Amino acid sequence: MTVPATNKTVLNKYLDLPQPEEKVQVEYIWIDGSGEGIRAKCRTLDFNPKSPEECPVWNFDGSSTEQAEGRDSDRYLQPVAMFKDPFRRGNNKLLMCAVYDHKLKPVKTNLRHTCKAAMDKAKAEEPWFGIEQEYTLLDYDKYPFGWPKKGFPGPQGPYYCGVGANKVYGRDIVEAHYRACLYAGIEIAGCNAEVMPAQWEFQVGPCLGISMGDHLWVARYLLHRVAEDFGVIVTFDPKPMSGDWNGAGAHTNYSTKAMREEGGLKYIEDAIDKMAVRHADHIVVYDPRGGKDNERRLTGKHETSSIHNFSAGVANRGASVRIPRQVAEDGKGYLEDRRPSSNCDPYAVTEALVKTTILDEPLF
Ligand code: ADP
Ligand code: MN
Ligand code: MN
Ligand code: MN
Repeated sequence: MTVPATNKTVLNKYLDLPQPEEKVQVEYIWIDGSGEGIRAKCRTLDFNPKSPEECPVWNFDGSSTEQAEGRDSDRYLQPVAMFKDPFRRGNNKLLMCAVYDHKLKPVKTNLRHTCKAAMDKAKAEEPWFGIEQEYTLLDYDKYPFGWPKKGFPGPQGPYYCGVGANKVYGRDIVEAHYRACLYAGIEIAGCNAEVMPAQWEFQVGPCLGISMGDHLWVARYLLHRVAEDFGVIVTFDPKPMSGDWNGAGAHTNYSTKAMREEGGLKYIEDAIDKMAVRHADHIVVYDPRGGKDNERRLTGKHETSSIHNFSAGVANRGASVRIPRQVAEDGKGYLEDRRPSSNCDPYAVTEALVKTTILDEPLF
């Protein structure tokens, strides 16, 4: 199968054209009706916006994104977070948006709306999050990138944090994405090759409150766009290959002010006790299909816990929630919730953690 491709050297001839100073290209980005897919469209502003609030509310045809029926299909794009555009450079912007319907009600996949309300209520506790985003690169035939066609690479073992052409596949994309994130202003914290070949991870955080979701969604957008340039597909499916291959998660590291301060371990343990009681509810929130996606991943094998039971432990990567060894030694820090699926909505995950551990509010 050949990849339809254009010549990027030719493209650069046009991207080098001087851009009128008062004209700024703003890429409006939003989550579509699947709750996983990302859509984006561009418009010119005749000023250089300094904040998302300065950017006009825009609209799109919701009937083409599973976000509206035919009639009354206009949906509103409410700007919420702004970043620099690493593709167009200059004053050009990436603009994360939340979607509202024609009556200005949040659409079903706008999980930011309630997340923001929860974060505002929990503000005094200063909730921080760091999400480890795992993902898999696919060739144009949707088979893992670099895998022998009609076959499999050797068994897992040498690939995690691997080095060498026979250990990792697609590093160019990882490197390009990292720089694109830094340039844009994403709080990217690191990256590594994962256990399954062609599987990678990047971390975003620590981020305060609502910004976790904003930064992670734009980081995902950047990954799709960078991979597009290389003719490679990114999947956030939590178990792209069945069998003896690791799945992909979105481990969510979480702390409050009290947990980070001297004696914080006690507050970490209190939070874990509250999370234990709510295990089933959290599982419903931790993937876009109410737990169905995580059923394929949280098997109790491949460094996962069983989807059916809650467990927690120091340095235990087979538990639902892990207290990192360093945190146990320091007696303060953060916890790691290992249950969220790679395709989770970070707004939903961070809202659930705050409601369960700080606000004592039910998730449903
Ligand atoms: P792992 O050992 O599980 O692979 P990583 O190094 O991939 O862990 O990711 C750890 C994540 O934890 C990073 O994204 C980092 O930003 C985040 N983190 C570190 N300290 C805190 C904290 N106090 N609160 C929340 N997140 C944190
Ligand atoms: Mn990690
Ligand atoms: Mn990982
Ligand atoms: Mn982890």
